This record gives sequence, C-alpha cells and structure tokens, in this order.
Amino acid sequence: MPKFEYAPAPESRAIVSIKESYGLFIGGEFTPGVDGRAFKTISPATEEVLAEVTEAGPADVDRAVSAARTAYQDVWSGLSPAARGKYLFRIARIVQERARELAVLESLDNGKPIRESRDVDIPLVAAHFFYHAGWADKLEYAGYGPAPRPLGVAGQVIPWNFPLLMLAWKIAPALACGNTVVLKPAETTPLTALTFAEICQQAGLPPGVVNIVTGAGETGRALVTHPGIDKVAFTGSTEVGKQIARACAPTRKKVTLELGGKAANIVFDDAPIDQAVEGIVNGIFFNQGHVCCAGSRLLVQESVYEQVMASLQRRLATLRLGDPLDKNTDVGAINSAAQLAKIRELSLVGEAEGAQRWSPPCELPVKGFWFPPTVFTGVSQAHRIAREEIFGPVLSVLTFRTPAEAVEKANNTPYGLSAGVWTEKGSLIFWMASRLRAGVVWANTFNKFDPTSPFGGYKESGYGREGGRHGLEAYLDV
Ligand code: NAD
Repeated sequence: MPKFEYAPAPESRAIVSIKESYGLFIGGEFTPGVDGRAFKTISPATEEVLAEVTEAGPADVDRAVSAARTAYQDVWSGLSPAARGKYLFRIARIVQERARELAVLESLDNGKPIRESRDVDIPLVAAHFFYHAGWADKLEYAGYGPAPRPLGVAGQVIPWNFPLLMLAWKIAPALACGNTVVLKPAETTPLTALTFAEICQQAGLPPGVVNIVTGAGETGRALVTHPGIDKVAFTGSTEVGKQIARACAPTRKKVTLELGGKAANIVFDDAPIDQAVEGIVNGIFFNQGHVCCAGSRLLVQESVYEQVMASLQRRLATLRLGDPLDKNTDVGAINSAAQLAKIRELSLVGEAEGAQRWSPPCELPVKGFWFPPTVFTGVSQAHRIAREEIFGPVLSVLTFRTPAEAVEKANNTPYGLSAGVWTEKGSLIFWMASRLRAGVVWANTFNKFDPTSPFGGYKESGYGREGGRHGLEAYLDV
C-alpha cells in the first residue's frame, strides 16, 4: 500500500508562550528555589532548549509540604464538598478552554504527536477533572461509609509519558476527596504541570491546595520520604516503585504504586484481522510505545500468524514518523536521549539473542531522538525483549496454539497491568479475562482509557487503583 504524500500541516507554536525560566509553585505563587539550582527542559524532537526550570531541594520540598498542610487545615478540609467540586469543575473548564495551548506545549516538551495530545491526552485531562468534580459532594455514596474522611497531604510523583494526564489522575481524586497535594512532574516534561499551576491561580484555587515542585529523582525522594506527607502516590518504573515501597513501609503513609508493564495482546484465529492489526498498532506504537500498558508482546494464534504479520507489515509501512507538531504525524520523538539509549540497547540484545528484527522503510530526522517502529519475530519467552519493559516502539511477536497456552504465555511475566484479547467469541473473551492476571483486560480494542474505569496493576505492576469509584479509596481514610 503506497503512502500518500501529504503537505506538511504543522500546528502553530504561537499559541504557547514559554517563559525563559520557571520557579516552584508553592502556596499559590511561583517562587525561586532556596539553593538556586536549575535544569533545562528540551524539545526531544529538535534538542532545542525550551526553558530553565528550578530544581527543588529538600528545603523547598519542606516549604511545599508546609504550604499544603496549612491549606489543608485552614481552608480545604473545612470547605463544603460542593465548594470543592466547584473548583474542580472550574479547573476542568479552563483545561478545555486552554486545550489547544496545552496540547501544543505537551507535544513540544514530550515529543508526542499533536494528534494524540490534542485528541487523547488533553480531553482525558478535562474528563478526569469533570468526573471527580462530580464525586466531591457524593463521597458518602461511594461505598466507603457514611462520612469518608480525607487523608491530609498527598505527595505525588509522576512520569514523563503522559505528563498532564498523569497529573490529572493524581490531583483530581486527591482534591475531590478533600486532600491537598504536592506534586512532582518528571524532569524531562515539567512544562504542562507548571502551566497547570497557572490554571490553579486562574481558577482561584485557595493557595497551597496544589503545590508543584520540579526536579529529578532526588526531589522525588525528598517528597515521598517527607514526614509531613500522609499519602504517597507514585507512577513510574518498578525499580523506583520498590524503593518507595521500602522507604514507606515503616511509616503510617498510605501508598499506591502504578508501575511498569509488559502486556500481552492476544489474537485468536477467528478475530477480525484488519481490526486486530489496528489494535496491535495502537497497542504498541501509540505514544511511541511509551505506555505502561502498551501491548508490547503480541501473541498470535499459529494458524493466522502469516496473515497477521503480512497485514501488520503493510500497515506499518504507512505510519508517518516526524515532527510531533505536524497533524499528519503518527509516530513522534523518543522522550529523551537516555530512553533512546535504553531502547537501542534492548533492541541489540533482541538481535543478539536470535530474534529477527524488522522495521518499515523510514527516514529518521537528523536532530532529536528517534527510533523507527520495530517488530521482532522469532521471539521466545526467555528473551529479554519478551520479559523486560522496553518502553519504546518495539513489538515482540510470539505464537500459541490453544487458549490455555495463550493464558500461560500471557501470564508468564513479573508484570500484570493490562492485556488484550481479539476474538469474535464472547465466551472466549470471558474465559480469557477470568484467567489473565492483569488489572485491565481489553476485548477487541486496546489502550482505551476512561475516568470511570479503575486502572492499576497486579504483581510488579503495582498496587492500588486510579479512576472510578475504586480510585477514591486511595485518598480516603477507610
Ligand atoms: P522513573 O521511575 O524513572 O521516574 C518516575 C518519576 O519518579 C519521575 O518523576 C522521577 O523523577 C521520579 N523518581 C526517580 N527516582 C525517584 C526516587 N528514588 N524517589 C522518588 N521519585 C523518584 O520512571 P520513568 O522513566 O519516568 O517512567 C517510565 C516508567 O513509568 C515505566 O516503567 C512505565 O511503565 C511507568 N508508568 C506506569 C504507569 C502506570 O499507570 N502503571 C503509567 C505511566 C508510566
């Protein structure tokens, strides 16, 4: 299938005004860091420096936690639930009003295609605030007793793959349940969180209810180990999640962890193959595969293997890789040089272990961090590319003969965040879903997110749920 030639269709950058430097958002205001340290955030597509951002040290984290505590005690915990909801509705509406600006900023700082930030990330951010705004005055009906109480101050640390969406997953339920927060965005993608701080000001949110501290792992560590934190919510790698679990184990802090994944996307021979191929592409090439629940292991029933692979290769040849701000782009930039190095390294390991590597013809831009959509066939369960999270546009393909074998292979992983099943038999979907050890099982679709639906892991993918009624529990004293 030939690729159509499209004229470039770049979204304008003019809608965003990025400041030269950003302070920390503490107590409702932007303030400089105590020790004056800063780092740069760049556009991964061009390596252009976008802004300088303050690196918060322990003294800054301390100030932010104090501001959150004061706001909790003096204002937020005493507000009527309906008044809390009013602020969340306001934030949701401002996010919608500023959606285009937020989408462009997210694509610049993260490298993801504007089509995704515009059509997926930002609409879901607004949806999370709307959904939780609705819960604020209905918590007594959530199933956690007649008058569920908040926990206090939440310390929240998020990754770089869905910067503003992960912020929404954290802040919206925390505030709806009556907590105040200190949030640390990832060091490579701080800009939309800092713009969110402006949105809090615009919404008239009482000072200190939301505090944003920027920095890297050390700042995150200072936050989650701070004694003034009542609740820790972390999304990121399993390795760091384990460190946080160890640090919090001897304390009274309530902890939820959303960690890595190595999801199986399972295609049976009666599946509608064209739809399944779209699901496979969406499962692993959406957001350059920087998705914790990505369908990074494709399990195909042997009888349709040739057909699925031929169709998949044809489809991958039509993907457009390039400028994240171009509205025709399907695959954007890898978020950082470090992540690119990890993807390259694991791909070389895949080849060295004997799997066959394939990519469609694809020209990579000279500047920036790029990796072509890549498929490995001849993968065995013992290969590192079948076991470790690559967190990039790399698919490992395995085959199976029976449903029982598919379940066994799918569950043969330390992770358990998500899975996909493609078949026209409803009974087989239920049979599989009841046996797959994964927090989310999609049937004849993949990577579908909704604020009403709880999301979270089994095994080393973490514990606790975000979204839906279940997600409220993490922020209530129950
Ligand atoms: P990471 O664990 O390196 O970093 C995540 C965040 O933790 C960043 O903000 C980082 O600065 C901070 N951090 C690093 N060391 C810390 C420490 N010792 N204490 C406290 N904070 C620390 O992960 P990453 O590379 O940014 O993100 C990718 C990972 O996130 C992948 O493994 C992916 O699967 C996972 N993820 C999971 C979900 C989910 O919902 N389960 C969603 C998105 C991403």
